[in-house]
Amino acid sequence: MNEAFLSFLWQFRLLSPELVTVTGESLNVLQPGEKNTDSGPDFLHARIRIGKTVWAGNVEIHVMSGDWLKHHHDRDPSYDTVILHVVYEDNLPVREKRIKAIPTLVVRDRIPPSVIENYHSLSLNKQWIPCFNQIKKVPETVFSFWSTALALERMSEKCLDIGRIYDQCGADWEETTYRWLSSTFGFRINTLGFEFLAKSLPVRTVMACSHHFSQVEALLFGQAGMLQGPVTGEYPLALKREYDFLAAKYNLIPMAAHHWKYLRLRPRGFPTLRISQWAAILHKTKGSLFSLLEFDVIDDLIKVLNVTASIYWNDHFTFEKGSVTGVKSLGERSIEVFITSGIIPMMFFFADQRGLPAIKEKALHCLEQLSPEDNSIIRKWREAGIGATDALRSQALLRLKRSYCEQFRCLECRIGKTILTQ
Ligand code: SF4
Repeated sequence: MNEAFLSFLWQFRLLSPELVTVTGESLNVLQPGEKNTDSGPDFLHARIRIGKTVWAGNVEIHVMSGDWLKHHHDRDPSYDTVILHVVYEDNLPVREKRIKAIPTLVVRDRIPPSVIENYHSLSLNKQWIPCFNQIKKVPETVFSFWSTALALERMSEKCLDIGRIYDQCGADWEETTYRWLSSTFGFRINTLGFEFLAKSLPVRTVMACSHHFSQVEALLFGQAGMLQGPVTGEYPLALKREYDFLAAKYNLIPMAAHHWKYLRLRPRGFPTLRISQWAAILHKTKGSLFSLLEFDVIDDLIKVLNVTASIYWNDHFTFEKGSVTGVKSLGERSIEVFITSGIIPMMFFFADQRGLPAIKEKALHCLEQLSPEDNSIIRKWREAGIGATDALRSQALLRLKRSYCEQFRCLECRIGKTILTQ
């Protein structure tokens, strides 16, 4: 037994209806109160009837009644307003409590067996998610009604990351957007590589060179550490010459090339191709990635991001390795993932900072227009019976898995609540 489960039972009125206090008086719960997430009693502003008297005040919940003294509530005035002590077991007789008499409710025999059984089966389940066996019985609407709030939680989480970059960049919007979107362009496996790359190359330098695609590409490959050591071939040599000149001009120091990852990536996702595509986006936007946030309709944004790697990459995957001939474009799926995980959270952050709710609305609407992410978590959700029809729902499912299921927050989850009360 644990306090979180007892609180859940109290909050959602899942205890058997016939309740009596330890002194034998009848107890009716009129209002369980509001769950308190700060210090102080567990539920505030509750209303209960004991015998014929209605009481208004706070409720404290413990597994053992003796926890009252263990937690030193007897010395804390914020517990003076407690009108009911709800416990699983009364291990400390009232006369020994050394506190003024607070009505106590023992719930040990007041929990419906079906609720306990469902809770145990959740907590003991070792499958992909604890409710894997039960979730198919939960109506689809339970998740749909919650998905927007979950997607918003995920955006807020990302806003914290962007906020850290914003502080590091001295509240410079261009530099913040550039660094955040660069790391997103690493598409998870090379997030760190792109993050280091952006940190090593200020956006003002990119802007100064942005009119010439060859210069932007040389800057990126050079700073990525990919032009260090001997290079061969006409195009790589031209890049190196250009980079050496720019590095001396702007006093640049390249990052270490070992940060780039190729394993577990399809060749079309190699960092070499991504860097060339990233150079194309920086060239197209003249280095002002903040301008990407100002699109009118999502199709306009998709058009701007529809770029290809430079011609050299038509028959190369790396500087050393050739490829089948073909244009290496960013691709529709990657564009949508980049918008979902990079541009939309940036819009949320900007809207938060400037107090512009209309931009948030627009960002949410965009999520509904984009395809869902297709990764192992979303596929597993589909197997469990919950599909994602758009990016808003896939963001919601990612949040649900990482922040609720993996932390066993089933008691705070709407699906969990439905399962436990079924
Ligand atoms: S948090 Fe919710 S969805 Fe996740 S395992 Fe628990 S009940 Fe299921």
